[in-house]
Amino acid sequence: MKAAVFIEPGTVEVHEMDMPTLQKPTDALIRVVRASVCGSDLWWFRGIAQRTSNSTVGHEAIGIVEEVGSEVSSVKPGDFVIAPFTHGCGHCAACRAGFDGNCLNQEPGGNGGYQGEYLRFAHADWALVKIPGQPSDYSDDMLDSFVTLADVMATGYHAAVSAEVSAGSTVAVMGDGAVGLSGVISAKLRGATRIIAMSRHEDRQKLAREFGATDVVAERGDEAVKKVMELTEGAGVDAVLECVGTEQSVDTAVQLGRPGAIVGRVCVPQKPEMNTNNLFWRNIGLRGGVASVTTYDRQVLLEAVLDGTIQPGKVFTKHFDLDHIQDAYDAMDQRTAIKSLIEISK
Ligand SMILES: [Zn+2]
Ligand SMILES: [Zn+2]
Repeated sequence: MKAAVFIEPGTVEVHEMDMPTLQKPTDALIRVVRASVCGSDLWWFRGIAQRTSNSTVGHEAIGIVEEVGSEVSSVKPGDFVIAPFTHGCGHCAACRAGFDGNCLNQEPGGNGGYQGEYLRFAHADWALVKIPGQPSDYSDDMLDSFVTLADVMATGYHAAVSAEVSAGSTVAVMGDGAVGLSGVISAKLRGATRIIAMSRHEDRQKLAREFGATDVVAERGDEAVKKVMELTEGAGVDAVLECVGTEQSVDTAVQLGRPGAIVGRVCVPQKPEMNTNNLFWRNIGLRGGVASVTTYDRQVLLEAVLDGTIQPGKVFTKHFDLDHIQDAYDAMDQRTAIKSLIEISK
């Protein structure tokens, strides 16, 4: 089978690999239909994060179940599924509390290689999310939207849940990448009435408005804070979704909230330390982390895609086949695509 592999920073190639096999009774083998490139894949692609040469890559896909282990009963061969990047077991304390992205029984090696023709999926019984019917029952746009439910849409939703966005909230969204745009969709889905997208790129501003943003602020840093204060009559917003992860962005996010606001963050912080006194003096809350993908897909997101309430697949502004995986990465690296989709099989 063919799969994308990391060679060295800036280079991915498609190699002929051995078929993955079931390693545990809780595994499933998935034939990948569509996969995607994540903003976090750019960390190793750019050489910022270390990665072993010749390792398979990718962690976002939809596909068809080919084979299941003896302890998997919720899905069967032939089922159409979302393969989340998280692999919640469904029964540990974290999973039961709704934090399946922090499952206490995670298995090393059971969550990579989604950008390939086949993939071994750990904790398949609970973590996979079944989509009704078959891929041929859906439009291309719909299939793209399903792919976002493997990570990016659920991650944006986690920012909104963490920040406690609710009906009537005023929300600021930091970041106009695919996660930030998914944050805008999520804020709207949770009933926010005012959504301020912080974006300086015209194409992304346009998509943010389409997804529900009511205002756009192109400024950054102190200027951005000033602008948001003007828009909220000096009060600040009820909730901030921090979808960038840089020190400056987190710092700005904290200043945008009204007293008592919560900043929900979902991007790996660039710097481990921060000035927590900035939180104290205005009662600002800061929470967030790895998204609970399976939980959100089951509770809200799959249904919202199926009934047409949300169309997160629009973040895929370029499509590629597996043989053009290098172009898919280059497009995101050079920001000529918001997010790259890889069509692998029908
Ligand atoms: Zn991802
Ligand atoms: Zn678990």
